[in-house]
Amino acid sequence: MDNKFVSTRGSATRLDFFASVLQGLGEDGGLMVPDFALPQLDLSSLQGLSYEALAARVISTFVPEGTEPLVATACARAYSRQAFLEEVVPVVPVGEAYVAELFHGPTAAFKDMALQLLPHLLTLSLKQSGRARQALILTATSGDTGKAALEGFADVEGTMIKVFYPVDGVSPIQRQQMITQSGSNVEVVAVRGNFDDAQRAVKEAFASDSLREACDAKDLFLTSANSINIGRLVPQIVYYFHAYLKLVERGVVSAGEPINYAIPSGNFGNCLAGVMARRMGLPVRRFIVASNRNNILTDFFTTGIYDVNRPFYKTNAPAMDILVSSNLERLLYLLLGDALMVRNLMAQLRDKGRYQVDEAMLSRIRSLFSAGWLSEDEVVSTIRTFYHDRHYMADTHTAVALGVYERYRRETSDATPTVVLSTASPYKFPAAVCKAVTGRDVPEEIATEVLLHATGLPVPDSLKDIMERPVLHNKVIDPNQIVSHIAQSIG
Ligand SMILES: *Cc1c(COP(=O)(O)O)cnc(C)c1O
Repeated sequence: MDNKFVSTRGSATRLDFFASVLQGLGEDGGLMVPDFALPQLDLSSLQGLSYEALAARVISTFVPEGTEPLVATACARAYSRQAFLEEVVPVVPVGEAYVAELFHGPTAAFKDMALQLLPHLLTLSLKQSGRARQALILTATSGDTGKAALEGFADVEGTMIKVFYPVDGVSPIQRQQMITQSGSNVEVVAVRGNFDDAQRAVKEAFASDSLREACDAKDLFLTSANSINIGRLVPQIVYYFHAYLKLVERGVVSAGEPINYAIPSGNFGNCLAGVMARRMGLPVRRFIVASNRNNILTDFFTTGIYDVNRPFYKTNAPAMDILVSSNLERLLYLLLGDALMVRNLMAQLRDKGRYQVDEAMLSRIRSLFSAGWLSEDEVVSTIRTFYHDRHYMADTHTAVALGVYERYRRETSDATPTVVLSTASPYKFPAAVCKAVTGRDVPEEIATEVLLHATGLPVPDSLKDIMERPVLHNKVIDPNQIVSHIAQSIG
């Protein structure tokens, strides 16, 4: 099978999966996508597999022939019991929906689903490239992704990770989570300034010829392993199948009967993985795309117009505070099947901050997607109602999807069984959840205690006693010191 990947913007280069992981972005600035018809998976052959075996089956369809056993080993390591609950992704009935909890990994949020596997895929990719190199990952972070990356790469052989966070741009808990990170191959550095300063510094490091030469001399492969890497996307296809198979197992649907998925969306990577699962034979009737007050996706899926000329809001579901959903470019490619048209739309986005798809495309989009959004107050009241009436405590992001799905069901009377993807533990955003559940406004540092006391629901181990853990990283640098700092630290 010739399962190669190409860029959404039409450059001629075709790469296999491992080379695509190493390259990250397409050479023309596009995103890597499969250039082959995705094979149909036979649902009955997947029933009863463990999560890691299912992951191996799904992900193996993307890799070069002969490397499947290596992928299976990587999946077994990533989704082990040390990292996740035994069930990996529990699916629990809540009201009229089924909630698939993607937050039982080491940082209690959905990014773990991909970031636990990506480091293993990256080392595999380096081995396949035929040159003995180590990966050096540089990341600027404003919040939770940095911690998830640290947990994913910590002590993974053949990798080193350095995370740079802005002194003035992370919450007290986020900072504490990062500076207490253990692992022989990790470093966490504070950068004076805000997130933009930290991000600019890391970009400078990537652009530095002297740093690149220093890395080459040490056989280090410099990469960001960022959110649009195909190695972040493919692992997310797995839990769409997993949740479906759970509903079959429980007799909610029979194999082949379609279901809906409701997805709290920001960069659109989570939802796009579902679209790919559907192309691999997963019976999906509808994707319900849920947004917060930054409702650019709601507008796109209802009007066909994507327009970033609008205010940006900081909300109580911060991981969804996004104006440019990068992975939408992959959706356009999959639906249009035409790289030239994608390139044209992306040029309009760059030049005018806006593009519009035609009527035919819009009607195709509307036949598969519904979309809606919740205000911050609606998020709070959704958490409150689900906790008090249905005995389920949701985080702010999950609440967005629960609320949007409830409204969808009321307005359409579509009774198709629906899986709501839950993207974070309520204890990951304790202040907002505490306010919704107890009505009390308390500082983030004590919100976990107050929420635990009020509900009795267990705090995930990874979020326990964070403020008491020993600080292992206390380096602070100016943005312009980043290159010399990295060069020095690699010797
Ligand atoms: C990243 C994230 C999202 C958004 O997922 P996308 O793939 O960017 O659409 C939603 N909720 C939480 C908690 C997240 O961390």
